Amino acid sequence: MKTIRELARDVPVAGEFDVVVLGGGPGGLPAAIAAARRGAKTILIERYGFLGGLATAGLIGPILGHRLRGAPVAAIGGIAEELCRRLAELGGAPPWEEAVRQGGIPFDVEAMKYVADAMVQEAGVHLMLHSLGVSVATTNGKLEAVILEGKSGRQAVLGKAFVDGTGDAELAFWAGAATTKGRQADGRPQAMGSIFRIAGVNDIPQQARAKVRKHIREAIDAGKLYMYNPGAGNKGSTVQPNELTCNVSRAAGDGTNVDDLTAAELKIRRDTHDIVRFYRENVPGMQECYLSATPTTVGVRETRQIVGLSTLTGDDVLSGAKSPDAVARCSYWIDIHCPLGRVRNETHLCSIKCPNDPPCVIFESYESDLPTELHPPEGDWFDIPYGCLVSKDIGNLLASGRCISADHHAMAATRVMGTCMAIGQAAGTAAAMGADAGVKAAAVPIDKLREALAADGQLC
Ligand SMILES: Cc1cc2nc3c(=O)[nH]c(=O)nc-3n(C[C@H](O)[C@H](O)[C@H](O)COP(=O)(O)OP(=O)(O)OC[C@H]3O[C@@H](n4cnc5c(N)ncnc54)[C@H](O)[C@@H]3O)c2cc1C
Repeated sequence: MKTIRELARDVPVAGEFDVVVLGGGPGGLPAAIAAARRGAKTILIERYGFLGGLATAGLIGPILGHRLRGAPVAAIGGIAEELCRRLAELGGAPPWEEAVRQGGIPFDVEAMKYVADAMVQEAGVHLMLHSLGVSVATTNGKLEAVILEGKSGRQAVLGKAFVDGTGDAELAFWAGAATTKGRQADGRPQAMGSIFRIAGVNDIPQQARAKVRKHIREAIDAGKLYMYNPGAGNKGSTVQPNELTCNVSRAAGDGTNVDDLTAAELKIRRDTHDIVRFYRENVPGMQECYLSATPTTVGVRETRQIVGLSTLTGDDVLSGAKSPDAVARCSYWIDIHCPLGRVRNETHLCSIKCPNDPPCVIFESYESDLPTELHPPEGDWFDIPYGCLVSKDIGNLLASGRCISADHHAMAATRVMGTCMAIGQAAGTAAAMGADAGVKAAAVPIDKLREALAADGQLC
């Protein structure tokens, strides 16, 4: 590849912190709150002008992973529960007790931004919005600083412990730590997708729903519509009357490649307008509907994972594996969106149950990589071990959210936002303890960490 040489330059230091969290999504936000509440001098750095990650920038909802599979019992507590309760106080989500009885927690995106602002400020987190992390400085296998770009120019933020909440394991990658990407066979990650919002929706008559799904499925199979889910929306990231969110679009590609991201944005925007037009012309109750919001960014489901001291596997998910160094629980299932971006598939999942029509390389050459089962045991959970958060290469780096150490199957379960928030609380608590004691993340005493998490309401 042709290159040019940038001049070396001195970079102003914007601050020195105990804990530096890059990325303010479901993984990074609770990490910063947890670290600051433990007395660590903490900074949260986010590229957008608001917090929430895909929950706000991506209009992604409902919050999943909050309860045990098939049972009205919470799988998460602590900061995640607190955030949901505060959303409910504003009318931006159902009450927590009711939410635990539901499969997902619908919420209001604007309330989410507001509550996230309030919680980080109350915790005493130093917040830096509009700041894009672009690289790091390391010494002797330790992160020293993250380098930022923004309207204030290029700046460095120094820290004792770092939490990677970028979703893409960017801190780990820049630091030269081992990372993996996508499925084992060909490195392809899950398809990207976008959730959009439609307003002006009247009640869709119950008896019309099955007919509508059949009609949409026929349009998909005829190549007239590109959507993976023949549904007409639900209460995802909206709780407002006459409004629905639609999680139906799909685009293949690598979310760490700007060409793929650009192609996905353009394709999904086109598809979205086709879908809304189809709803208006064909679905009873939707004749007056209109596109009321599209996301700030295309939704990226999977990119890099760190390589940790331990790695979660699909087998751990299916067996409900427990671990002595558990720091969070997950009861979600292996939900893989076709990495080829295909939509003509009744199951819409990448698994042995896919009809494999047209033939796919995984079925042809790597069938053993396909999940045969998808669900953890009913009413049970699998543990997220602390070792999955700890980079094996960089001593003071913890991963949070969807980029923890997990294989393609296991990350398809742990990537949901409820689980990411629980992981975040664990990452932030551990980072604060490590910074305070002046030890590497791996040396944080697991019994003390688990005690601290339990005292703060985390289920682990
Ligand atoms: C289409 C789609 C549908 C989904 N549906 C659901 C659902 O219904 N329910 C559910 O619970 N989950 C769902 N998910 C999964 C869930 O949204 C994500 O896995 C989750 O948000 C991951 O959290 P995270 O904090 O790790 O990453 P993200 O949510 O991606 O947050 C990362 C944050 O870091 C910031 N950031 C990244 N890089 C930098 C940088 N270099 N400098 C500064 N800031 C940076 C980003 O701006 C962002 O705020 C869906 C995902 C997609 C894509």
